[in-house]
Amino acid sequence: MAELKLLHMYPNLLDLYGDSGNVEILKYRCALRGIDLKVSRHIIGDRDTDFEGMDIIYLGGGADLEQQMLAEDLLSCADGIKAAYEKGSFLLMICGGYQLLGQYYLDSNGEKIKGLGLFDYYTVASTDKRKRCIGNIVIEADIGGEPYKVIGFENHGGQTKAVKTPFGRVLAGNGNEFSSSTEGYMEKNVVATYLHGPLLSKNPKLSDHIISYCMTRQTGEEFTPSAVNDKLEEECREVLLERLLGEK
Ligand code: GLN
Repeated sequence: MAELKLLHMYPNLLDLYGDSGNVEILKYRCALRGIDLKVSRHIIGDRDTDFEGMDIIYLGGGADLEQQMLAEDLLSCADGIKAAYEKGSFLLMICGGYQLLGQYYLDSNGEKIKGLGLFDYYTVASTDKRKRCIGNIVIEADIGGEPYKVIGFENHGGQTKAVKTPFGRVLAGNGNEFSSSTEGYMEKNVVATYLHGPLLSKNPKLSDHIISYCMTRQTGEEFTPSAVNDKLEEECREVLLERLLGEK
């Protein structure tokens, strides 16, 4: 049986709005294709985590307090995460996780949390805690060479700047900053986004894109995931897109 490995970082601290559901969805959609997704965890204090052996490294979102709590431990993982990223492991990060892999996050208390510095972007939050980007969001992203509407929910004070290659174009909602035209950060093996949801339950095509990337990388042959019954997911998407974009 084919096998993929996912590392879930700080599942006990970074899990807003069902973010851990992204791991469940990947496991489920892998299983539908006969792939066993083995999930391991990294929590604060772990010293023997194998980053380079991972196909996917995943970080969910978290409040400023949780981000502060784990920042030092995350910095101690910098070499391992960087090596995995450079070897082509897929990095999936939501909101607080997205922010912490950039240069820094200046939080709503005015405290600077040093990021891993893997990417150039940085994030600044207003010290007025009421100033937040909150609500449903739809973006258009390029998934496997095709435009795809990615649906989610955002709730962040942080405004992310200097994003060179955004994940998508905002169709409804805020994105990287208040009323921004762009959302998230993307590379061939990176998706970093403000979209909670969980992201992958609302956007099955993105989930399959990550699985395809990992299987293709492992086998060296183009992997096309077999079609599965997404009738319910597609019906939910239609309702949400109609509600948020007025699309029929
Ligand atoms: N604490 C960060 C912010 O408010 C991230 C929040 C989140 O992960 N939803 O910007």
